[in-house]
Amino acid sequence: MKVLLKNIEHTYMKKTPFEKKALANVNVNFEKGSFTAIIGHTGSGKSTLVQHINGLLKPHSGQVTVGGHTIDAKSKRKQIKALREHTGMVFQYPEHQLFEETVEKDLLFGPRNAGKEEARTKKRLPELLELVGLDKSFLERSPFELSGGQMRRVAIAGVLAVEPKVLILDEPTAGLDPQGQEEILSLFKTWQQQYQTTTIMITHQMEEAARLADRIIVMSEGQIIMEGPPSVIYEKQAELQTLHLDVPEQVKVLKQIEQEMGVTFSSYHLKPEE
Ligand code: ADP
Repeated sequence: MKVLLKNIEHTYMKKTPFEKKALANVNVNFEKGSFTAIIGHTGSGKSTLVQHINGLLKPHSGQVTVGGHTIDAKSKRKQIKALREHTGMVFQYPEHQLFEETVEKDLLFGPRNAGKEEARTKKRLPELLELVGLDKSFLERSPFELSGGQMRRVAIAGVLAVEPKVLILDEPTAGLDPQGQEEILSLFKTWQQQYQTTTIMITHQMEEAARLADRIIVMSEGQIIMEGPPSVIYEKQAELQTLHLDVPEQVKVLKQIEQEMGVTFSSYHLKPEE
């Protein structure tokens, strides 16, 4: 499903001393089945942007279109709900949102709310659990007796159970060990490819963004300041290879790039000193 954001503005705490323009005239499209990573400093507007796509926030001006539904500042709750039906959002630390007595009940909650047929959902649960790396014996267990990594998987399965056409991921691997991160990310990639889900992921990990996404968006102060395939962003690193700098200088430049983009590189590709 295609997502279009047109001239989006959003200001928090309007007409108070704390007024903050979080988005200023943002224009961006997400094609059906694409995988976009959004990077940028804390406070640059990433969360505010994605919350417009699943109808958690309404634009103060501009329009948000998801599939055939368009909302603007004047839209009523019912119209916003229609938009929410197509989007799934994995929040940071989604395991904090588990609350039912059993994993099965937790997994049924979202689809039931979305009006999906219960029998069909139930039938799909073992397959869904398998996709997130858990077997069906987990269905009867309490989510609260699981490990942190297992809880995260259950929470993610709960979002996927709704079969969203648009999937929003807000730092989905935060706090996981490298192996857990790898497994969770490959599951999102599999899901996107299998169902042509439009996937939008906020991350601070440059490698994560470059490996999974076909496009990277860099945000700063409520605006999109750079946009392109991962290679465009990596060109900045490649440029470094052509400069005659000693190692401390190279590290300094890379740290500057990290600073500018609000990301971290898992390792630096340095040119050996001549
Ligand atoms: P990011 O996700 O990139 O960290 P956010 O979208 O969370 O950025 O925040 C953008 C700006 O809006 C920041 O200055 C932040 O302090 C402010 N902001 C975010 N949420 C609220 C809120 N609920 N009330 C007031 N200001 C907010």
